[in-house]
Amino acid sequence: MKYVLVTGGVVSGLGKGVTASSIGVLLKNCGFRVTAIKIDPYLNMDAGTMSPFEHGEVFVLDDGGEGDLDLGNYERFMDITLRKDNNITTGKIYQHVIERERRGDYLGKTVQVVPHITDAIQDWIERVAQMPVDSKGGIPDVCVIELGGTVGDIESMPFVEALRQFQFRIGTENVCVVHVSLVPIIGVVGEQKTKPTQHSVQVLRSLGLNPTMLACRCSEPLDESVREKLALFCHVPGKHVLTMHDVSNIWRVPLMLESQGAHKVICSKLGLPNAETLDLSL
Ligand code: ADP
Repeated sequence: MKYVLVTGGVVSGLGKGVTASSIGVLLKNCGFRVTAIKIDPYLNMDAGTMSPFEHGEVFVLDDGGEGDLDLGNYERFMDITLRKDNNITTGKIYQHVIERERRGDYLGKTVQVVPHITDAIQDWIERVAQMPVDSKGGIPDVCVIELGGTVGDIESMPFVEALRQFQFRIGTENVCVVHVSLVPIIGVVGEQKTKPTQHSVQVLRSLGLNPTMLACRCSEPLDESVREKLALFCHVPGKHVLTMHDVSNIWRVPLMLESQGAHKVICSKLGLPNAETLDLSL
């Protein structure tokens, strides 16, 4: 099983969900079975009790699970059917660990965030990634995991730590980290600023996750000089810095990623057979 982890930096609401869904589309078109997991680091059990004004609409899954609207994007983009377990929240993980503690599963032990919560997160991801999500019923080849929120938030720390450990559980060659970040345009000259992305990559690295690719959200396409600067300061090859500028319709995002060869970079990082050309005219 291969994993693509999508993280976000600088601000929330950047488009991690759309990025994760689009990566899923590209991998699916390379001929792989793709599933997805959304991690929401809040204490609610699910999005069902949260204000739609604050959080956006709830997406109701086929099994009745009330999830984040990103799960709807995954289902529509990748043509898959997800279950409530594909949406992990802090509330679900803590409830699971506390139930085990009450049952006596950890008798004699002090139950702690590390290793008990972090192990529970890793076990959950491994279990759910194996679940068939399409009508053909086979085990997926690749699981796209989206970590909600912004790296460095207190809420997401147990998940980041669990994902750091997870790389060693499954082998670093089986994980590709895509970091979605913001490149704001400042001033009258309209200069694209790289510093927020540099800082968020530093935070990500300090937590033990090294990005393979940067997906840079900007109102305009990235200038070549900005791409080179980001590559230099963020320690990634230039072709791993993707421009994810604003488009009129989010269905264009997979095409934008494909035109920059994102699928080739991901396949080569994960050791998957590489599709030179994709047919995205679906
Ligand atoms: P996150 O998962 O980071 O919170 P979402 O994927 O939900 O962010 O996206 C936030 C909003 O930004 C959505 O309304 C989405 O349609 C929009 N969006 C994402 N990427 C783009 C893009 N490249 N161009 C225009 N709008 C985008």
